[in-house]
Amino acid sequence: LPHAHVEALQPADVAHLLPRPTSDAQKYTRGVVGVRAGSTQYPGAALLSVAGAASGLAGMVRYVGEPAVADRVRTAHPEVVGAGRVQAWVVGSGGGEHAGAELRAALADGVPTVVDADALHHVDHTLPQHTVLTPHAGELARMLGVERAEVEAAPLAHARHAVASYGCVVLLKGRRTLVAAPDGRVRVTETGVPWLATAGAGDVLGGLIGALLAAGLPSYDAASVGSWLHGAAAALASRGGPVVAGEVAHAIPDAVRNLPRV
Ligand code: AMP
Ligand code: MG
Repeated sequence: LPHAHVEALQPADVAHLLPRPTSDAQKYTRGVVGVRAGSTQYPGAALLSVAGAASGLAGMVRYVGEPAVADRVRTAHPEVVGAGRVQAWVVGSGGGEHAGAELRAALADGVPTVVDADALHHVDHTLPQHTVLTPHAGELARMLGVERAEVEAAPLAHARHAVASYGCVVLLKGRRTLVAAPDGRVRVTETGVPWLATAGAGDVLGGLIGALLAAGLPSYDAASVGSWLHGAAAALASRGGPVVAGEVAHAIPDAVRNLPRV
């Protein structure tokens, strides 16, 4: 890999990078994000991935999954539609035994794909450079065949090891989140709060990054801007107290409103 160039992402950077609709915008030109997550065993992962994707940053959200789960998604999110063309996929959270097939289906489309949770266990070869892997330390350790404590002791080295192994963008989640790219760039985001360590928070992040990919951001920018906004949304939803993942998703528009003017 090229020499690491590490930068802390700033609010002004996020404000500049964020895709905003122009006056002639249409829903299709704003981007369509597809979610292949959740299962009858883990329907909540579908709902939370969709909640992150449906934060308004893309023009449309599609959900593809088991009919019973799709019914629940449509009830919770009436704006979500079914299968069709997308500009980005989000795969893996709560996918259980379906995660491998969903990953293959998403990659076959050739569009940028966020690979999270169960789908990470099916990554065993080089992926397209625009793919975004979103492991936490335990998931990255399993992928690399090392102990979780080793990843936690040297997060940057292990994130870059994964970038070299898989040839794509790797986002390593944690108190500080690292986003590493094949060209050597690394961004750090620290906007989150400890209350964000809660079930489903990562599912919301995957959906949000997918929406930013669909809206046209390059993968490295989508991952780092998504991580920054996700943490900022958590801080807003928390206001010093506990949060659940759905509240983090609901606070994403306010995190966007609070960005500095550009
Ligand atoms: P997951 O492990 O997939 O549920 O994702 C957890 C989310 O919470 C990620 O976005 C992490 O970056 C974030 N997170 C976990 N622990 C902390 C912490 N102690 N402080 C801030 N953010 C955290
Ligand atoms: Mg997770």
